Amino acid sequence: MKKLKILSIDDSKAIHSYLKQCLAPIDPQIDHAFNGQEAIDKLSLDLNAYDLIFLDWEMPVKDGPTTFRELQEMGLKTPVMMISSKSHPDDIMQMLEAGVAEYMMKPFTADIVLEKIKQALG
Ligand SMILES: [Mg+2]
Repeated sequence: MKKLKILSIDDSKAIHSYLKQCLAPIDPQIDHAFNGQEAIDKLSLDLNAYDLIFLDWEMPVKDGPTTFRELQEMGLKTPVMMISSKSHPDDIMQMLEAGVAEYMMKPFTADIVLEKIKQALG
């Protein structure tokens, strides 16, 4: 089977390495960006290059919701999974209504990530 290509957008190096560890069972190719602008710059070269995007909410330079809106305006088709410690239902609903495929709360376990990926990819 083709390797899943994932772009992980998060300002936390710890989250990047924890995700890598969680995803080891499915051995995806994971690229990283440390804020929304860096991700947009990377994606503007090949917008739909990834199978799935993980998007943190709180980041310097450009946060998750702003990044998501700009990527939608650019025509992004890739499913986006929001990953955030924000757990208020209004925050979650705001992003689901905006069109994110899944919303995963921090902290999470490997089982949760793998299940959410299945759901995000249909
Ligand atoms: Mg963050």
